[in-house]
Amino acid sequence: MSVIVQKENPVLRAISQKVAKADIPSKHIQDVIAKMHAALKTQIDGVALAAPQIGYSIRIFVISPNILENKPLVFINPKIIKKSRKKAWLDEGCLSIRPWYGKTHRSVKATVEAYDENGKKFTYGGADLLAQIFQHEVDHLDGILFSDHAKEMREYFPEKKL
Ligand SMILES: [Zn+2]
Repeated sequence: MSVIVQKENPVLRAISQKVAKADIPSKHIQDVIAKMHAALKTQIDGVALAAPQIGYSIRIFVISPNILENKPLVFINPKIIKKSRKKAWLDEGCLSIRPWYGKTHRSVKATVEAYDENGKKFTYGGADLLAQIFQHEVDHLDGILFSDHAKEMREYFPEKKL
Protein backbone atom coordinates (compact mmCIF):
# COMPACT_ATOMS: atom_id res chain seq x y z
CA MET A 1 0.00 0.00 0.00
CA SER A 2 1.39 3.38 -0.97
CA VAL A 3 1.77 6.00 1.70
CA ILE A 4 0.68 9.55 0.93
CA VAL A 5 3.75 11.70 1.47
CA GLN A 6 3.55 14.83 3.59
CA LYS A 7 4.72 18.33 2.84
CA GLU A 8 8.33 18.05 4.05
CA ASN A 9 9.02 15.43 1.37
CA PRO A 10 11.12 16.93 -1.48
CA VAL A 11 9.24 14.89 -4.13
CA LEU A 12 6.38 17.37 -3.65
CA ARG A 13 8.69 20.21 -4.73
CA ALA A 14 10.12 18.59 -7.87
CA ILE A 15 8.94 19.36 -11.39
CA SER A 16 7.43 16.03 -12.43
CA GLN A 17 8.53 14.34 -15.64
CA LYS A 18 6.24 13.88 -18.62
CA VAL A 19 5.17 10.33 -19.43
CA ALA A 20 6.22 9.23 -22.93
CA LYS A 21 3.08 8.31 -24.87
CA ALA A 22 4.60 4.91 -25.72
CA ASP A 23 5.09 4.19 -22.00
CA ILE A 24 1.44 4.71 -21.04
CA PRO A 25 0.52 1.00 -21.57
CA SER A 26 3.64 -0.19 -19.73
CA LYS A 27 3.32 -2.20 -16.55
CA HIS A 28 5.18 0.49 -14.60
CA ILE A 29 2.78 3.30 -15.52
CA GLN A 30 -0.31 1.12 -15.17
CA ASP A 31 0.93 0.03 -11.73
CA VAL A 32 1.45 3.64 -10.66
CA ILE A 33 -2.11 4.49 -11.76
CA ALA A 34 -3.49 1.50 -9.82
CA LYS A 35 -1.52 2.51 -6.73
CA MET A 36 -2.83 6.07 -7.02
CA HIS A 37 -6.45 4.90 -7.16
CA ALA A 38 -5.83 2.54 -4.22
CA ALA A 39 -4.16 5.25 -2.12
CA LEU A 40 -6.95 7.72 -2.88
CA LYS A 41 -9.56 5.16 -1.89
CA THR A 42 -8.05 4.94 1.61
CA GLN A 43 -8.82 8.63 2.20
CA ILE A 44 -12.48 9.19 3.02
CA ASP A 45 -12.15 12.90 2.33
CA GLY A 46 -9.94 12.51 -0.77
CA VAL A 47 -11.20 13.72 -4.14
CA ALA A 48 -8.04 13.59 -6.26
CA LEU A 49 -4.38 12.61 -6.04
CA ALA A 50 -1.23 13.48 -7.99
CA ALA A 51 1.57 10.93 -8.57
CA PRO A 52 4.17 12.85 -6.48
CA GLN A 53 1.87 12.41 -3.49
CA ILE A 54 2.76 8.73 -3.48
CA GLY A 55 6.40 9.37 -4.37
CA TYR A 56 6.43 9.24 -8.18
CA SER A 57 7.72 12.36 -9.89
CA ILE A 58 5.68 11.87 -13.06
CA ARG A 59 2.86 13.89 -14.59
CA ILE A 60 -0.30 11.96 -13.68
CA PHE A 61 -3.26 12.76 -11.48
CA VAL A 62 -6.40 10.76 -10.75
CA ILE A 63 -9.86 11.80 -9.61
CA SER A 64 -12.07 9.81 -7.26
CA PRO A 65 -15.02 8.02 -8.89
CA ASN A 66 -17.07 9.66 -6.11
CA ILE A 67 -16.56 12.98 -7.90
CA LEU A 68 -16.80 11.90 -11.53
CA GLU A 69 -19.01 8.88 -11.95
CA ASN A 70 -17.95 8.34 -15.51
CA LYS A 71 -14.54 8.66 -17.06
CA PRO A 72 -12.16 10.41 -17.30
CA LEU A 73 -10.57 9.63 -13.96
CA VAL A 74 -6.94 9.47 -15.12
CA PHE A 75 -5.09 12.51 -16.49
CA ILE A 76 -1.63 11.92 -17.93
CA ASN A 77 0.57 14.89 -18.95
CA PRO A 78 -2.34 17.22 -18.11
CA LYS A 79 -2.19 20.77 -19.38
CA ILE A 80 -4.65 23.50 -18.49
CA ILE A 81 -5.50 24.96 -21.87
CA LYS A 82 -8.22 27.36 -20.73
CA LYS A 83 -9.04 29.05 -17.44
CA SER A 84 -11.83 31.48 -16.72
CA ARG A 85 -10.82 35.02 -15.94
CA LYS A 86 -13.43 34.89 -13.20
CA LYS A 87 -11.90 33.68 -9.95
CA ALA A 88 -13.24 32.95 -6.49
CA TRP A 89 -11.79 32.37 -3.03
CA LEU A 90 -12.38 28.69 -2.34
CA ASP A 91 -11.88 26.48 0.67
CA GLU A 92 -9.07 24.07 -0.03
CA GLY A 93 -7.13 21.28 1.65
CA CYS A 94 -4.56 18.72 0.55
CA LEU A 95 -3.95 15.07 1.43
CA SER A 96 -0.25 15.99 1.76
CA ILE A 97 -0.79 18.95 4.10
CA ARG A 98 -2.89 17.45 6.81
CA PRO A 99 -4.62 18.81 8.76
CA TRP A 100 -4.33 22.25 7.21
CA TYR A 101 -6.98 24.05 5.31
CA GLY A 102 -7.20 27.53 3.79
CA LYS A 103 -8.66 29.73 1.06
CA THR A 104 -7.22 29.87 -2.45
CA HIS A 105 -8.00 32.22 -5.32
CA ARG A 106 -8.81 29.98 -8.27
CA SER A 107 -10.44 30.26 -11.67
CA VAL A 108 -14.00 28.97 -11.42
CA LYS A 109 -13.73 27.13 -14.75
CA ALA A 110 -10.82 25.26 -16.29
CA THR A 111 -10.27 22.99 -19.28
CA VAL A 112 -7.59 20.32 -19.26
CA GLU A 113 -6.00 18.46 -22.14
CA ALA A 114 -4.47 15.10 -21.20
CA TYR A 115 -3.99 11.47 -22.16
CA ASP A 116 -6.17 8.83 -20.54
CA GLU A 117 -4.86 5.50 -19.22
CA ASN A 118 -5.13 4.02 -22.72
CA GLY A 119 -3.02 6.75 -24.30
CA LYS A 120 -5.97 8.51 -25.89
CA LYS A 121 -5.83 12.30 -25.89
CA PHE A 122 -8.89 14.16 -24.61
CA THR A 123 -9.97 17.53 -23.33
CA TYR A 124 -12.28 18.00 -20.40
CA GLY A 125 -13.83 21.15 -19.03
CA GLY A 126 -14.92 21.56 -15.45
CA ALA A 127 -16.42 24.17 -13.16
CA ASP A 128 -16.36 24.72 -9.41
CA LEU A 129 -14.84 21.74 -7.52
CA LEU A 130 -13.65 20.10 -10.74
CA ALA A 131 -11.91 23.28 -11.93
CA GLN A 132 -10.35 23.61 -8.49
CA ILE A 133 -9.12 20.00 -8.67
CA PHE A 134 -7.53 20.58 -12.10
CA GLN A 135 -5.63 23.64 -10.86
CA HIS A 136 -4.58 22.03 -7.56
CA GLU A 137 -3.36 18.80 -9.20
CA VAL A 138 -1.48 20.44 -12.08
CA ASP A 139 0.22 22.64 -9.45
CA HIS A 140 1.37 19.44 -7.68
CA LEU A 141 3.09 18.33 -10.89
CA ASP A 142 4.96 21.65 -10.93
CA GLY A 143 6.03 21.40 -7.28
CA ILE A 144 3.48 23.96 -6.05
CA LEU A 145 1.40 23.38 -2.92
CA PHE A 146 -1.80 25.25 -2.15
CA SER A 147 -0.33 26.47 1.12
CA ASP A 148 2.18 28.52 -0.95
CA HIS A 149 -0.59 30.92 -1.95
CA ALA A 150 -3.51 30.28 0.43
CA LYS A 151 -4.80 32.66 3.04
CA GLU A 152 -6.48 32.00 6.37
CA MET A 153 -4.61 28.73 6.87
CA ARG A 154 -6.00 26.81 9.79
CA GLU A 155 -6.16 23.30 11.17
CA TYR A 156 -9.33 21.64 10.14
CA PHE A 157 -10.53 18.11 9.91
CA PRO A 158 -13.25 16.53 7.76
CA GLU A 159 -14.48 17.48 4.26
CA LYS A 160 -12.90 17.10 0.90
CA LYS A 161 -9.19 17.20 0.24
CA LEU A 162 -7.24 17.11 -3.02
ZN1 LIG B 1 -2.90 18.20 -2.85
